[in-house]
Amino acid sequence: MGVIRFKALDEALSRNPVEVKLPSVKTSEYFGVNVFDCRKMQEYLSLEAYKCVTDSIYKGTKLDRKVANQIASGMKAWAIERGATHYTHWFHPLTGTTAEKHDAFFESYQGTGVIENFHGGKLVQQEPDASSFPSGGMRNTFEARGYTAWDPSSPAFVMENTLCIPSVFVSFKGDSLDYKTPLMKSLANLDGAAVEVCNLFDRNVERVNVTLGCEQEYFLVDTALYNARPDLKLTERTLMGHSSAKDQQLADHYFGSIPLRVASYMRDFEVEAYKLGIPVKTRHNEVAPNQYECAPVFEEANLAVDHNQLLMTLMKKVAQRHNFQLLLHEKPYKGINGSGKHCNWSMVSDTGVNLLSPGKTPKNNLLFITFLVNIMKSVYDNQDLLRASIISLGNEERLGADEAPPSIMSVFLGDQMNSILDEIENRVTEHKMTPDMKAELKLDVGKIPELLPDNTDRNRTSPFAFTGNRFEFRAVGSSANVSAPLIVLNTIVADQLKRFKKDVDKVIDTKNRKKDEAIFQVLKDLIARSKNIRFDGDGYSREWEEEAKRRGLSNIKDSLSALEAIVSRQVKKLFIQNRVLSERELEARYGINLEKYTKKIQIEARVLGDLSVNHILPTVYRYQNILIENVKGLKELFPGDEYSRLAAQQIETIKEISERASIVKSEVDDMIEERKKANIIKDPMEKARNYSRNVKPYLNSIRYQIDHLELIVDDGIWPLPKYRELLFTK
Ligand code: ADP
Ligand code: MG
Repeated sequence: MGVIRFKALDEALSRNPVEVKLPSVKTSEYFGVNVFDCRKMQEYLSLEAYKCVTDSIYKGTKLDRKVANQIASGMKAWAIERGATHYTHWFHPLTGTTAEKHDAFFESYQGTGVIENFHGGKLVQQEPDASSFPSGGMRNTFEARGYTAWDPSSPAFVMENTLCIPSVFVSFKGDSLDYKTPLMKSLANLDGAAVEVCNLFDRNVERVNVTLGCEQEYFLVDTALYNARPDLKLTERTLMGHSSAKDQQLADHYFGSIPLRVASYMRDFEVEAYKLGIPVKTRHNEVAPNQYECAPVFEEANLAVDHNQLLMTLMKKVAQRHNFQLLLHEKPYKGINGSGKHCNWSMVSDTGVNLLSPGKTPKNNLLFITFLVNIMKSVYDNQDLLRASIISLGNEERLGADEAPPSIMSVFLGDQMNSILDEIENRVTEHKMTPDMKAELKLDVGKIPELLPDNTDRNRTSPFAFTGNRFEFRAVGSSANVSAPLIVLNTIVADQLKRFKKDVDKVIDTKNRKKDEAIFQVLKDLIARSKNIRFDGDGYSREWEEEAKRRGLSNIKDSLSALEAIVSRQVKKLFIQNRVLSERELEARYGINLEKYTKKIQIEARVLGDLSVNHILPTVYRYQNILIENVKGLKELFPGDEYSRLAAQQIETIKEISERASIVKSEVDDMIEERKKANIIKDPMEKARNYSRNVKPYLNSIRYQIDHLELIVDDGIWPLPKYRELLFTK
C-alpha cells in the first residue's frame, strides 16, 4: 500500500535539527588538534628526527630506518594521547574512494601480556591484502600484494580513534596502484619545469608549488526517504521519478537562507573538518533544491587532494548523525542541476609569487602572461586528454546538461587578458624590435591591473576559466578524486613549459636576441597557435558548438571515445617522457575505467529491472484493477449510451496504463537479453561500448514510461518517494 513511502515521509517531516555541541573556544584554538603537524612534531620528535621529516617534506629526501623508528614512536605517543587505539595507512586506490586497514597498536609481548607497539617499519611500510583492489590486470593473483608507504608531505591524523597515515600504494614491481603516486610525480615534474621558466625572470626561485582549492557540491536527502529508494541506495542516483511541478525554475534556493537542519549539519562537519586541519571556509545553497556547496581555502595541491578526499568521507559520516544521506553523485536527479567540483588551480613560487596573478611591475606581469599563455597552449594541445581525465558514468550524465560545462574544451580569459594577448600577437614581429617598440610593449604589459575587473565569468559555462588569479577547471565531477584531472593538468603544463624554455633558449642562441625579446617572440607564436581555444561566450549555445567545429576543436560527447585518449600514442609519449606514468600504468588505468563504467551500467540496469518488476508494475496493476472495477460498476448502473460517455476517460486511462506497463515489462526483458549478450564479450572496450550502446538506452526509455505512470497512478499507493518529496523535505 505504498506504506514504506508514507512512513518515511512522516519520519522525515517530523525531524528537528540535531543539536550540535560547538567547541567553546575560537576555531583557531582547536584547528588541527587531530593532526600530527609541524608544531606537534617539534614537540614529540627529537631535533634530528624533526629535521629529517622536514627535509623529506621540503626537499624530497629519503627517511632512514633509524629516524623512522623515532618518528613512529613520537607519532604513536601523540596519537595515543588523542585516544587512538589503532593505526592505518590511508590511501587512494583506483576505486576512487579511500582505503584503510586498521591494525591495533598493541602486540603480544614475550607471551606475558601486551604492549603498545608501532615501529618505524610499520610507519614507513604496510602490506594490505590488496588482491581485491582494481589494478587493471597489473597484479596477477599469485602476486596479489601491494604495499603502502608513508607520504611525509601529508601529515598523519587521528580520526575515530585511529591514527591515519597518508600513504602511496604501489605493487611489488613498483607500479603505482593509486592516485597519489602519479600525482606526487606530476607535482615534482611541474615544479622542475616551472622553476626553469621562473628563472628566466628571477634567479632566486628554487621551488614552485601547485595550489588547489576544490569547491565541493553535494545533495542532501533525508535518510528515511533515501532508505525507501533502493535506486538511490544502490546507485546514488534516481533511476526514475517524474520531475517535481516546482524545482529550480524560480532560482529561489540558490544562495537562499540555509534550512535549519542543514545549517546544523554544516556546522557539525565544519567543526570536525577544522579538527583535522581542513580549512573549510564558504558554504551556501546551490542552484537545485537540497543542493549545497562548501569550499575550503586553497592549499598545496597534494594536501588539498588529501583534504578533499577526507572531507568527502567526513561529510558522509557526519550526515548520518543528522539523519541525512550525502549524495556526491554528479547527477542524482534528472532535469535539475548536477554536482561538480570546481578545481581552482594555480602555482606559487617559494619567493611568494602567485604565478597566475598580475603583478605590480612589467617584469612580474610578463612572468604572469608567460604562464597564462603556456597553460592555454597546453589545454589547446590536450583537449581530449583533459576531457578523458574527468570521465565517469555519473559525470557523463551531468556534462552538457542543466548548466554543467559542455563537452567542448575552451578557455575563458576575460576581455582584458584577451586584448593584451591580441596586442602581443599583433605588435611582436619576427624582426628585431626597436627600443621604442619594446618600450611600448612593456608599457602595455605593465598596464594589467592587479585586480582584473571582468574575471568572474558569471555565466559559468566555460569548462576552464581564468578567474583573476587562478584557473578554474569546472568539468570535474563532484565524486571524483581530483588527482585524476590534476595529474593530467600538471603534466601537460609541465611539458609545455619545458618546450617553452627550449624555444626561448633557441631564439636567444640562433637569432641572437635578448631574453625579453625572445620571450615575447615565443609567446606571440604560442598565442597565435592556440587562439582557437579562447572563448568567452555562452558555452551552452548551439552557435558555439558550430563555431567550435569550424575552429577544429574536439567535441567528443560519448565518454568511451573520450577515454581512448588515455592510451593514444601522443598521450603515452607525454606521460612517459615526463616520468609520471608508464605505459603499463596507463593501460591499467584505462582498463579500470572501462570496467568501472561497464559495471556501473550493469548495476543500474539490474536495479531498474528489479524496481520495475517488483515495485512499479504490481502497483500499476493494482490501480488498473480499481479502474476496471469502477468501469464495471458504471456498466451495471447506467444504460448503454450514458455508460459509454461516462466510462470513456477511464477506459482510455486503463488502455494507457496497459500499454505503458507492457512496454516496461518487454523493455526490461529486452534489456536483460542485451546484458547477456554484452556479458560474454571479452574485450573490455567492446564490452563497455555494448553496454553503453545497447543497455544504457533502456535506462531512459523504461524510466520514461514509469515517469508517465507515476503521473497517472493513485498517489496513495505509489511506492517510492517522489521528486517533490526527495527535493523539498528538509
Ligand atoms: P567562486 O564561487 O567565485 O569560484 P569560492 O570562494 O566559492 O569562489 O571558491 C574559490 C576557491 O578558489 C576557494 O577554494 C579559494 O581558496 C580558491 N582559490 C583562490 N585563490 C587560489 C589560488 N591562487 N590557487 C588555488 N585556489 C585558489
Ligand atoms: Mg568557483
